[in-house]
Amino acid sequence: MDDLIADVRQFFCGYRDLYGSKIYLEHSLEEQEDTGERLPGIEEIESPQIDGELDQFYHQIKECRRCDLGALRTNFVFGIGNPHADLLFVGEAPGHDEDQQGKPFVGRAGQLLTLMLQAINLTREQVYIANVLKCRPPNNRDPLPEEVEKCEPYLLKQIDLIAPKLIVALGRYASASLLRTRSSLGDLRKTIHTYNNVPLVVTYHPAALLRNPLLKREAWQDLKKITGYLARV
Ligand code: URA
Repeated sequence: MDDLIADVRQFFCGYRDLYGSKIYLEHSLEEQEDTGERLPGIEEIESPQIDGELDQFYHQIKECRRCDLGALRTNFVFGIGNPHADLLFVGEAPGHDEDQQGKPFVGRAGQLLTLMLQAINLTREQVYIANVLKCRPPNNRDPLPEEVEKCEPYLLKQIDLIAPKLIVALGRYASASLLRTRSSLGDLRKTIHTYNNVPLVVTYHPAALLRNPLLKREAWQDLKKITGYLARV
């Protein structure tokens, strides 16, 4: 019975990752809380690098109360990495671990992201990692459009300051909210888009890859596309 439940769960989560959904699931089905167990090869996640302008901007906005999430958060999750990175990864919103630690992608999905970077000879310190939302939605529910609207200017300013050569949107939610589209992840992965005048590519959210390892092959193709693109610009 447990196996059946696991299969059904995996199917619906995979479905949502790929196509989006009006089938609402409990978020606890979608994101496992971090047990503290590390994926092989993963040590502690680094501390943020301090950079003048980006750091100043962080201090300007870290007490934000533009939306209701401000009152619920433990930590404002600004972003982490090289303030002059060529590559900017953008996820959906902080989860439980990120909210606790004030850093993006530090749970199991984050550890997989670290491994994905290693696979293309990059470290987290070389890229920049942020989210569409800076505060955790309760129970990891999907961000609301009004939350995205209030928070997105922060991401836009980060992009202006970092000036990346390429943005990588992680998962359908981040892609759909940045690109204002309802297209499927499959379709979005096929092209290079533009966001805030910066080229943007779409790939799977690492949480989706943890749930459905069969997607890793396509994710690897995306990673090669990313390195190929960076080598050309
Ligand atoms: N998922 C996200 O989209 N962002 C995080 O920071 C962590 C998990």
